[in-house]
Amino acid sequence: MKYPLVSNFINGQASPSSSSRMLDVISPIDGTPLSKVPMSSKADLDQAVAAAQKALPGWSRAPIKERVQVFFRYKVLLEKNLKELSELIQEENGKTYGEAVAEIEKSIELTEFAASLPQLVTGEVLEVSSGVECRTEHVPVGVVASIVPFNFPAMVPNWTIPNALALGNCMIIKPSEKVPLTLGRLALLLKEAGLPDGVFNIVNGDKEMVDAICNHPGIEAVSFVGSTKVAKLVYQHATHNLKRCLALGGAKNHLIVLPDAIPVMTAQNVTASMSGCAGQRCMAASAMVAVGSVDHIIEKICEEARKVRPGQNLGAVISREAKERIERYITEAEQQGAKILVDGRGASVAGKEKGTYVGPTVIDFVKPDMAVAREEIFGPVISIIRARTVDEALAIENANPYGNAASVYTQSGGIARYVTERASAGMVGVNVGVPVPREPFSFGGWNESRFGAGDITGKSSIGFWTKLKKTTTKWNPESGINWMS
Ligand code: NAD
Repeated sequence: MKYPLVSNFINGQASPSSSSRMLDVISPIDGTPLSKVPMSSKADLDQAVAAAQKALPGWSRAPIKERVQVFFRYKVLLEKNLKELSELIQEENGKTYGEAVAEIEKSIELTEFAASLPQLVTGEVLEVSSGVECRTEHVPVGVVASIVPFNFPAMVPNWTIPNALALGNCMIIKPSEKVPLTLGRLALLLKEAGLPDGVFNIVNGDKEMVDAICNHPGIEAVSFVGSTKVAKLVYQHATHNLKRCLALGGAKNHLIVLPDAIPVMTAQNVTASMSGCAGQRCMAASAMVAVGSVDHIIEKICEEARKVRPGQNLGAVISREAKERIERYITEAEQQGAKILVDGRGASVAGKEKGTYVGPTVIDFVKPDMAVAREEIFGPVISIIRARTVDEALAIENANPYGNAASVYTQSGGIARYVTERASAGMVGVNVGVPVPREPFSFGGWNESRFGAGDITGKSSIGFWTKLKKTTTKWNPESGINWMS
């Protein structure tokens, strides 16, 4: 093993799990065994919750301007350690080095936002009747949990860590068992930034740990990011136990391309959106609805896709099972009559034969009822569905059960507006392939891409990580109090 056995991180230090159940951590780049990760026990979680509960009074009562000082320092440490962190992400997740760097850069942006929270959480005060004043303040929820997926080992954890902690909560986070190494490194940086012990804790594990988190009476709120199937289960489980829950799920994002779209930019954007991070992004374009005569753009998309090379500017997919699943989708579409214009099946990289690569794949003449049109593939595959009109394209987009992102490619402002108003997605774009709203705007989809209220980042996350306290005060009878004695 290249790295020592993964440890939990409890009360500011590495804490070996009491469980002997382990899973291998394998690099998707070339199949190198990196480490083993423990599937922690309920006793490990109890220990983490106890540490968080012990840290909570001191941390939650510290003024927010004091708490955010940790995140000013954390941001600098992310910058200082960018190369090392990016290499680790690349190794355990399989994405390209450039994509890993972008993930740390985004983590820095998320941290900057958290450092600005004192400016955003000022309460309100009003004299509500003579001599009587009402004021509001955002109070931390308490001990909270964050459960994260494999596809962004640093960025998705940083969707929750800086905001939740800056707002005064203590956290238990469970990384994906497939990529536990980066988060362990982030824990050390948080400690180096001066975060008090117990405020941030990592408990490794799989489904059993997620169940234990949803059942734990010491945890007040659960945030989840992952597939829709699991997001639903976690949302139901956590709310059944009367916890606050926000669960983000999977996606099937549509790009609607009109004949007046700028050909080269559109082709480059579609290709980058479907193949970036090997298609393993919840914001990836997965279906393109081609309206009318856009063959000239589809030709250019194929040209662009052929420039995307596994092992060079295209990373690996997370596992052998993922590679097989993606290739199965392509084969099934072909068998059902779709046309494979660029075929990424059977990709392999010389010298990295144990790596799990799928080449960029463009499938045309996909029918809306085929699995490649309906389901999340989570690989570098774009399914092109033909439509005669914008309304037909919107009907296809609206019919999919997800609702993370949708984009339109056109030069007509009127049509762009028509589509963005009617697309059933939380994040929409005009001539943008990956319409992720940057800070301070918040991230969150609709429909089966998100369960619970509010978004997970930006200003909208303040509602999830805090409770609103309303205080009504009166002092002096001389003020002529005329209501509520
Ligand atoms: P996943 O749902 O398999 O796993 C997510 C987390 O849930 C992991 O920590 C995992 O250990 C745990 N888990 C897995 N199966 C479970 C079960 N049956 N019960 C309880 N917990 C379980 O997701 P993944 O494969 O790690 O990540 C890819 C998915 O995440 C894709 O569907 C992608 O679209 C989605 N995603 C969504 C967003 C978003 O913002 N909506 C962002 C990133 C990823």
